[in-house]
Formats: sequence, structure tokens, C-alpha cells
Amino acid sequence: MAFTLPTDIRNRPVAVIGAGTLGRRIALMFATQGGLVRIYDKSRQSGEAARSYVEQHVAEVAAGIEGGAAGRVAVTDDLTEAVLDCWLVVEAVPERLDLKKEIFGQLDGAAPSDAIVASNSSSYATSEFIDRVQHPERVLNMHFYMPPHQNAVDLMSDGHTDPGIFDLLKRELPRFGVFPFVAHKESTGFIFNRIWAAIKREALEVVAEGVSTPEDVDGMWKINTGLDAGPFRMMDQVGLDVVLDIENHYAQESPHLPAGPRELLKEYVDQGHLGVKTGRGFYTYESPSVGTTGIRPQQAEA
Ligand code: NAD
Repeated sequence: MAFTLPTDIRNRPVAVIGAGTLGRRIALMFATQGGLVRIYDKSRQSGEAARSYVEQHVAEVAAGIEGGAAGRVAVTDDLTEAVLDCWLVVEAVPERLDLKKEIFGQLDGAAPSDAIVASNSSSYATSEFIDRVQHPERVLNMHFYMPPHQNAVDLMSDGHTDPGIFDLLKRELPRFGVFPFVAHKESTGFIFNRIWAAIKREALEVVAEGVSTPEDVDGMWKINTGLDAGPFRMMDQVGLDVVLDIENHYAQESPHLPAGPRELLKEYVDQGHLGVKTGRGFYTYESPSVGTTGIRPQQAEA
């Protein structure tokens, strides 16, 4: 059946696939208009942590959005149940191409025929994982930064995306407090993420070369930009394993990139120091947790 744009979307749920650092934050934003968000994760523990994250923050975030109202969140480990009657599905599973391909094949089969199916991938274009998808015209990249504070969203076609989807999302997403920008052509890292990647890479290189320390780089960053957190603090928040995966992907495409940033990240990852989620990264943290940082502005994009 040919794809047609979803209708009656204000009365239909949104499904979020993957309940980690980003999945729970995406779910939080879609729960701010009084509707239902279903979270699917193969780990029950991760799903439950996401539910409590959303329930803890939704009233406060919804109160800051025009017309906002705290919605409901449901958690499931059954994919078919998760996507039932949804108008939008947002995938946020780990940044692995094989996994994205598998999940997109499953989602295309399970989601309602008029549902939009989006990926939050930080560095893969959806054109790279639609080989098992029958309806690529309903698929696109919808890349979030770090809601509920960093609320710009990149939208990017998989090369087949129905143009009506962009109009619909440009109209609907701001209701949920997130603001879409469309990449006009395929771009690894979309728009703002590419600029942020260059900042992260050079910050890591400065430390890898022994020129400075994470603390001093962040200290200078804060003084000179007036922002609350520097690149190292922000990378800890994102997860150093995630940052390394993304940098590896950029390096595959652009082999001239310096190896120092990846080597430095790998040292931390090999020791299990992944940042906030393990209690230690470039900094140490009192209580290891994924995405329980609440709504303090010390956050950044992968
Ligand atoms: P994460 O590791 O924190 O969470 C991933 C979640 O997916 C986990 O809860 C895990 O249990 C679950 N999962 C793993 N395999 C699964 C499967 N087969 N089915 C269902 N659930 C599964 O990862 P994250 O940092 O939230 O990143 C998720 C995606 O979002 C990645 O594509 C990443 O590039 C992107 N992203 C991350 C950030 C960031 O700052 N961390 C920012 C923007 C985009």
C-alpha cells in the first residue's frame, strides 16, 4: 500500500525505540502535549528507568511549552505493541549500522502504514539502512541534540522521503518544544552536529598532544563563551563510547582526520570510563546514571 501522510495525529501515540540517554529525552518531549508515548527497549531495566525519567520531568517541561500538558508514558518490550496506532516512530538504539538495518526492517513491517519512521542516529544517514524497508518514502533522519535543553532537531531525507513529511514535521514538532531544521542535502553529521564534531575533535587533540588538560580546556571554554559546560564535560554527559563510535564513523569517511582524539577516547572506553553513565569519564561523578541528570543545562549533543 502506498504511503499517505498520517491523520488525526493529535489523538495518536508516538513510539520511541530505545530508552537510553536520548530515547528517554525524546519520549519526554513527545509527552508534553498530554498524549501517550510508548517506549520500547529490549532491556526492561532501561525501559523502567526511562519511564521514571519522563514521569519525573514531564510536568515541569510541559509547563514551559505553550499549551503543554503532562502526558502518559508506557513501557514495553514488545515492538508490535509499541508501535500500535502510532503516527510517529523515533528510533534511538545504539549507533550500529547492522542494528539500525535490522530495526528499520522490523519497524517498516510493524508500524501502521501511514506512520512516519524516523532515526535519531547521530552519524548515519537513513539512506544507509533502508535495504529491508518497503516504504522508504516514510523514513527520514530526525536527529535530536540533548532535549529538554538543546531542542534544535535536524531533519534529513533518505533520498525517497515524501516531501509532505517535512511540512508536517515543521508544523507539528514545535508544539512539543522542539525545533526542526532541514538539511538540504545528505550530510554526515547533519548541520550543527558537524560543527560540534570539529570542536570536540580539536579539544581532544589538544589534550592528546599533551598541550592541556580536560579541566583547563573546559575552564577556558566557559570563560570565553559564557556557557555552563565545556566540551569534555559535555562528552562525559553524552557517553564516551558514543562519542568514539561517532568519531570512528567520521574517520571512516575522512581518513585524513587526526587519530589522537580517537586514541584518547579509546583509552577511557577500554577502562570502562564512559562518562556520567559509569560514574567516571574525564571527570568523576557521585552516582553513575544514564540520563538522570534532570534538567540542568550541563548537556550536549553527541
Ligand atoms: P544508549 O546506549 O544510551 O541507549 C540505547 C538503548 O537502546 C539502551 O537502552 C539499550 O538497552 C537499547 N537497545 C539496544 N539494542 C536494542 C534493540 N535491539 N532493541 C531495542 N532497544 C535496544 O544510546 P544513546 O546515547 O541514547 O544513543 C541512541 C542513538 O541516539 C544513537 O543512534 C546515537 O547516535 C543517537 N544520539 C545520541 C546522542 C547522545 O548524546 N547520546 C545525541 C543524539 C543522537
